[in-house]
Amino acid sequence: MTNTIRSVQGTEDVLPQQWGWWRRLCGEARRLFEAYGYGQVRTPILEHSPLFVKGTGSTTDIVQKQMYTIQGESDDEDAITLRPEGTPPTIRTYLENQFHKKITFQKFYYIGPMFRKERPQKGRLRQFHQAGVEAVGGASPLLDVETVILARDIYRDVGLENFEIKLNSIGCEECRTEFRQEVYELLDKEREKLCEDCQDRMDRNVFRVLDCKNEQCQEIAERLPTITDYLCEDCSSHHDEVKAALSEEAVDYVEAPHLVRGLDYYTKTVYEITHSSLGARDTICGGGRYDGLVELLGGPSLPCVGFAMGLEASLLAMEAELGDPPSTGVEPVVYVVSFEAAARPESFRLIQRLREAGIPAEMDFEERSASAQMRMADNMNATFCFLMGERELQSGDVLIKHMETGDQWNAPRENAVKEIKKFLEDTE
Ligand code: ATP
Ligand code: MG
Repeated sequence: MTNTIRSVQGTEDVLPQQWGWWRRLCGEARRLFEAYGYGQVRTPILEHSPLFVKGTGSTTDIVQKQMYTIQGESDDEDAITLRPEGTPPTIRTYLENQFHKKITFQKFYYIGPMFRKERPQKGRLRQFHQAGVEAVGGASPLLDVETVILARDIYRDVGLENFEIKLNSIGCEECRTEFRQEVYELLDKEREKLCEDCQDRMDRNVFRVLDCKNEQCQEIAERLPTITDYLCEDCSSHHDEVKAALSEEAVDYVEAPHLVRGLDYYTKTVYEITHSSLGARDTICGGGRYDGLVELLGGPSLPCVGFAMGLEASLLAMEAELGDPPSTGVEPVVYVVSFEAAARPESFRLIQRLREAGIPAEMDFEERSASAQMRMADNMNATFCFLMGERELQSGDVLIKHMETGDQWNAPRENAVKEIKKFLEDTE
């Protein structure tokens, strides 16, 4: 196998037998997104790089070192980036489709792959998937709460219990100015104790240090003053209303006064959902409000709130808490066995008629012996076998065998589908 081409580092295949939890999570997410009034938007994976440089923010790790970017063909052509996150593209399409001039308030959701050049490790990939929502145009704290409850409901409905919702407010530019200065001065005194990344991050955006996963950086961050003490009146009352509505709806959450998010555009509410099985990078969902982003991307000033779930991280949590995924293997109701090569076209016709009637049916495509086909029917757990040999070809019948009881009987081929249908209805 030395010459076979391997998958790209940091990418993962999902095999049919691993599909069970994926299907559950994406299915519940889609169902609840739509139940909460979010409509699916599908944006391209390729975007002009400035969308992320501006939107995600030039001081973020993503823009600094994690983007997959292809240079433009000429100097006046923008470079193109594989999207590292779904929020700026959603706002781009919102503006490009002029929603702000029509019905301003819009709720979107997306599910799809994202790309970041991170150091690959368990649950951290270079191509990973996110499911997220963006509610554009609503300033109400109740909208923040809606998104938190939506994320909570998705996790609850897939069967998770050991997750925790962490809530904070990081205020607006006005609240942050004084806080930033204070934090910078305090951190500057301990600069050499910070990790290398943070020593560098500090001068770009001091809040990055608060988001660092390094233990020593976290310890230092723990001792810093908290942003919630610096909130202006507007941000403070917004935060209080969020908390009140969460409590009113009996949402279990903890206040996390040191929580900031890794992206530049957040304002006011920020939250993360973590899962106890995940270790140091335990976030399975991150969200919050970003009232400055639309304007930053060239639109009017419009408030927004949303979240992004990391699907791989969420799936690791599901595996840890719920065990192996349920089987997604398809069990045919009928397996058609051909005793003669000449019977195969007729067998194929039979499985097609069964499938048309909504009955999962299968046959052998490897030209194997009749006994190997019978074994296959057994392995696949088929309820019935149809046996097609020389005699059946002549007579126009098919020999039907019930696999569990061993009962078998002849039926005219044109009635066979009806017989199985009736059997399935009777045993419902
Ligand atoms: P984190 O702080 O968890 O590293 P982030 O703040 O950089 O994430 P977000 O876009 O907010 O980035 O991520 C939301 C969620 O998406 C994360 O909590 C995580 O579960 C998932 N995620 C982010 N990056 C990756 C990755 N490289 N591989 C797998 N999942 C990822
Ligand atoms: Mg983060």
